[in-house]
Amino acid sequence: MKHTLAIIGYGGMGGFHHNSIKEKVGCIRVKGAFDIRPEAMAKAREAGLHAYGSLDELLADQEVDLITVATPNDVHRPLVIRCLEAGKNVVCEKPVALNAAELKDMIAASRRTGKLFSVHQNRRWDRDYRIVVEAIRSGMIGKPYFIESRVQGSHGSVSGWRGQKQHGGGMLLDWGVHMLDQLMDMTPEPVIEVSACLQKVFGGEVDDNIKVNLRFGNGLSALMEMATNCFISLPRWHISGTEGTLIIHDWDCGGQIVQSNNQRFALPDEHPDWSEYYINIADTLDGKAQLIVKPEQALRVMRVIDTIFAAEEQRGGISCQI
Ligand code: NAD
Repeated sequence: MKHTLAIIGYGGMGGFHHNSIKEKVGCIRVKGAFDIRPEAMAKAREAGLHAYGSLDELLADQEVDLITVATPNDVHRPLVIRCLEAGKNVVCEKPVALNAAELKDMIAASRRTGKLFSVHQNRRWDRDYRIVVEAIRSGMIGKPYFIESRVQGSHGSVSGWRGQKQHGGGMLLDWGVHMLDQLMDMTPEPVIEVSACLQKVFGGEVDDNIKVNLRFGNGLSALMEMATNCFISLPRWHISGTEGTLIIHDWDCGGQIVQSNNQRFALPDEHPDWSEYYINIADTLDGKAQLIVKPEQALRVMRVIDTIFAAEEQRGGISCQI
């Protein structure tokens, strides 16, 4: 069945959703968009979309069965709940909410209305992440016991609403949520300890350089680092396993696996695409698949984020069971 989608928030990411669905997801038609900024509405019109005059007009459109919310983070919760209560299925950009309590309200609305609700954790379809997943699944490095995951940029401070606390700015909620989602997607065992260093080097009110240490119940430890002022990057991934070590240098996915006796192996050949996220959404709505990015998984991530903010406040590790 062909689904009809509308986008709320037609900024950078709203335009991205439109273009990538148009190019690659035949089972979804993007009909229109609503944004509070007239310039964004003009951009949507130029891109061939119906520009809704109000949120109410969008929600009343009976053709639309799926809505993507791509606004700044602080308005995700009220918008998602309104869309669900209007009988729409909803995809929400990450971070889905500012904290676990907000997300619980959104999940409750989804259960109450029986409508699909998912979070756009598109980086589960990143090539580097899929190589890691496949290398672990195939046993090439044995049992992983220490994972280092890093995203290091050199643009300095975070800008626009991302630099403002009230809008859910900061790197933990921006990049950290992707990196945590990946680590927790590949590790279903509970997180039992969290410690963090969230620095505000350039921006003032939000974290712009972060390091997070996690311990999982199966003995795995992970270090996650996101930097905005790094001019000599460390590898995107470095994983120690009982049978070998994996390295992925950067987004181009150069790297290797080395086992004992210095045996070297090429990384698994993976070519995922972000459009697979929306194909899964359409297939789930059609009863042909299970939802891959479940809101309950996002809740687990948000609970860790709550714990990280608390750990940072008391500057120490926090034992937990998430
Ligand atoms: P942006 O500032 O470029 O766009 C946000 C748009 O939302 C703006 O046009 C703004 O006018 C509009 N808006 C604000 N409040 C609104 C409201 N109440 N109703 C309707 N429109 C409203 O920001 P962006 O970079 O597109 O980020 C949007 C969301 O996408 C954020 O949650 C961000 O974290 C997420 N994002 C995700 C990825 C990813 O890889 N998944 C990448 C970038 C951004």
